Amino acid sequence: MSLLRRLPALIAVVLLSLTGLSASPAQAAAGAVAAAPNFKAPYPCGQRWTYSHHSAEVRRALDFVRADGGATAGTPVLASAAGTATRYYQASGAGNYIVIDHGGGWRTYYFHLAAYSVPSGAYVGQGQQIGTTGSTGNSSGAHIHYEQLYNGTGQNIVINGVGLSYPGSYNQAYLTSDNGCGGSGGAAFTTWGSGVNVRADARLSAPVVATLGGPTAVWVVCQKQGDTVNAEGYTNNWWSKLRDQNGFVSNIYIDHPSAQLPGVPLC
Ligand SMILES: [Zn+2]
Repeated sequence: MSLLRRLPALIAVVLLSLTGLSASPAQAAAGAVAAAPNFKAPYPCGQRWTYSHHSAEVRRALDFVRADGGATAGTPVLASAAGTATRYYQASGAGNYIVIDHGGGWRTYYFHLAAYSVPSGAYVGQGQQIGTTGSTGNSSGAHIHYEQLYNGTGQNIVINGVGLSYPGSYNQAYLTSDNGCGGSGGAAFTTWGSGVNVRADARLSAPVVATLGGPTAVWVVCQKQGDTVNAEGYTNNWWSKLRDQNGFVSNIYIDHPSAQLPGVPLC
């Protein structure tokens, strides 16, 4: 905890002593809510989703579905803040789900995943992919059921320091993600397709250095022209260099309509 964060508490103690009052330990404990992490949206940078809280919903959850024309099912689910991720499964309810422990009593829940993207117990960074959106468990369609809990109690959800509303149906409130945007190390994109090879260079004969099992949140550091690839009905000779996989993938598999990606420098 920084000195700045302690200052309000220090000032309170000084004021109490000046006025001759003292706070009992019980009062101090009741007022001591650890500062929440700066939570971000649980889906990739730039995507616009709508959310709602239905009448039978548990705690203070919000359900999210895409509202930007993209398919909800299979979209990467991202950690809204850094922490330790644990996998769970509940056939009658949450389905495949992940809980991230952020420390200080704060946890976030991500329900109904189609698949997990990290091992149980993994430390994940903010914006790291933890799973893909699905409809496992008690769910009528693909969505992300998302919660923020403090000491086991559901809290009203706050994203980027702003409390979200709780509409009773979709398409009344929207949230565009800035999770994984900008910063150093490239531009955020999402891949599509399954079994996509990442190669050491922008050539089909280059060795495979990684394979993306399904839609994956990636950081593109630069792009260049290489071998022409024909796949899935598309033809493209542009390739993206991926930061975390340290290799090249055909731009066909980057989920963007342009052959050459906007805002990405040449390698
Ligand atoms: Zn829900």
